[in-house]
Amino acid sequence: MIHLYKFKDLNILLDVNSGAVHIVSDLVRDILSFFDDKDPCACKAADWHAEKAKICAALAQKYPDKALEDAMDDVETLISEGSLFTEDTPEASVSPESRGAVIKAMCLHAAHDCNMRCAYCFAGTGDYAGKRALLSLETGKKAIDFLIRQSGNRKNLEIDFFGGEPLMNFEVVKELVRYGRTREQLSDKHIRFTLTTNGLLLDADKEHFINAHMDNVILSIDGRPEVNDRMRKTPSCSGTEEHIIGKLTHITENRDGLY
Ligand code: SF4
Repeated sequence: MIHLYKFKDLNILLDVNSGAVHIVSDLVRDILSFFDDKDPCACKAADWHAEKAKICAALAQKYPDKALEDAMDDVETLISEGSLFTEDTPEASVSPESRGAVIKAMCLHAAHDCNMRCAYCFAGTGDYAGKRALLSLETGKKAIDFLIRQSGNRKNLEIDFFGGEPLMNFEVVKELVRYGRTREQLSDKHIRFTLTTNGLLLDADKEHFINAHMDNVILSIDGRPEVNDRMRKTPSCSGTEEHIIGKLTHITENRDGLY
C-alpha cells in the first residue's frame, strides 16, 4: 500500500509496509497514480509489460519517451529493492520488531474530540477530520501491552495522553495509568506519563491526580488574554482565557518540583 501526497512543491511517497519515504518527480507521481487500485507486484510479468505500455501510451503526450522509460525503470528498481509496494503481511504492517525497531514512546489519543475550537488547530478541532470519539479502556490497555511488548531491552518508556482534549476522557486516563503501573512492575519497565491539556476541564480532583501521577503536564495558552481569546475559543465562540488562567496557575503552583 502506498500514500502519495503533496507538501508545498514536493511529491511525497510513503510505502506503508516498509516505512520507506521517497520524494518523487511529477512524472513518477503520474505513473503511480495508475496503480491506485492495482498493485504492480500482483501483475504477472507479461501483464506488467502490458501495464507499462499502457501507462507510457497514456502519458506520451505529456512526457518524452526517454523520460518515461527511465521513470518506469526507477519504479521497477524501487519495487525490486523492497521499498515500494512492499508485501502487505501482518508482521510487516504492525510489528516494528520484525524490522528490528524498538518502541520507547507512545502518544495515546485519549480523546479524538476537543472542547475548544482554536483557529489554527492542527487536529481539525480535535477529530482529525474523522468521527469524534473517545479511547476505550480496552483499546488503551492493548496499546500499553503493545508498547511493553515492543520495547525490547529498554527499561524507560513514555506515554503521552493526548487529543483533542484528553480530560474529556479522564476516567479512562486514570484507569490506564493504574494499568500501566501494574504492567511495569510485572515487566520490569518504568513508564513516564505525560498529559497534554487545554485546561478547560481541570478541577481539584483532576489536578490532584495529575500532580500525583503525571511526570509531565503540558498546558496550552496563547499569552496575552486578547491574543488567547482571539485564537482559542469554545465551540460557542467565546474566549477561553478567563476559564483557564486560574486553573493553569493553580496546577502549576502545586506541581511541587514536577514540570
Ligand atoms: S485545544 Fe488543541 S486540539 Fe483542541 S481545538 Fe485547540 S489546538 Fe485543537
